Amino acid sequence: MYFSKNNNFFHGIMFHHFHDDKIHKRGQGSISQRDFCRLIRFLGRKNILSADEFLLRYKENKLTNKSLCLTFDDALRCQYDIALPVIEDLNIKAFFFIYSSIFVKDPDLFEVYRYFRMNYFKNIEEFYKDFFKVYGENLNNYFNEKKNIIKKTKQEFPFYSLNDIRFRLVRDEILNKDEYRKIMFEMFEQKKFSPKKFYDILFMSKSNVIKIQKLGHVIGLHSHTHPMTLKKFSYSEQQKQYTKNLNIVSNILKCKKSNIVSMSHPSGSYDGNTLNILENLGMKIGFRHSMLNANKKKINNSKYEIARQDHKEIMEMMN
Ligand SMILES: [Zn+2]
Repeated sequence: MYFSKNNNFFHGIMFHHFHDDKIHKRGQGSISQRDFCRLIRFLGRKNILSADEFLLRYKENKLTNKSLCLTFDDALRCQYDIALPVIEDLNIKAFFFIYSSIFVKDPDLFEVYRYFRMNYFKNIEEFYKDFFKVYGENLNNYFNEKKNIIKKTKQEFPFYSLNDIRFRLVRDEILNKDEYRKIMFEMFEQKKFSPKKFYDILFMSKSNVIKIQKLGHVIGLHSHTHPMTLKKFSYSEQQKQYTKNLNIVSNILKCKKSNIVSMSHPSGSYDGNTLNILENLGMKIGFRHSMLNANKKKINNSKYEIARQDHKEIMEMMN
């Protein structure tokens, strides 16, 4: 039984990475096709609405406490290769949230960074060891100061290890994008890793996205460069992120901008400005990246803050 008193309200299920042990390597939190099928059975096929149906019932206030929809973030090729055939087979239509810098010359590299840390080290702890070494400064005092934040994050995302959280703090709070990039490229060098070689394995192509839409799935926004903390950006920077995202995605799909009405927040990061911008762009629904807001203890706060359960957490419930 998936539903319990902790998740007895309508929400999305959030998917990222899948593996087949062939082209798509196993990585932190990735799941196989077989586990994906098991997971859908565990959720209960009858509870899963197709994306357009979820949207319609949301607008009409007709979703029940047990309504679910499936959502796929980040335009990952592994979703196209591994998850799409399964949901097509079961006739489930899903949301796919696409960030658009992967379709321009100089894509954001965070997915490549992930691939690198998953595949070029004995395990993730080895990567963290190297990363902190290249970073070079003693972080003990910093982590001590952040004790409470680390504790809170662990509560919100229990599947993160302590070093997962520490690494994310350094990446997202101490370093800016260029400083992080510099460290990563130094590590690439050490391992003779060439990022460009991996774009095709990691990202969907434009024609993949077009095909998904033609099959009846719903394509939505996820910002342009997928910043880790969008809420730190100014209003106009945030606006650029979503306007560019909308322009590029509607261009690829050759559709009117007004046909794109859904989104999810990259890394779950947003503030009041973001919600304002989404309203102005005509969005009808937006998804968070977690269930309960750790501070507010509220669910589905607004139409742009619909809760989502991470598939990693569901896998834990199943095991
Ligand atoms: Zn994302």
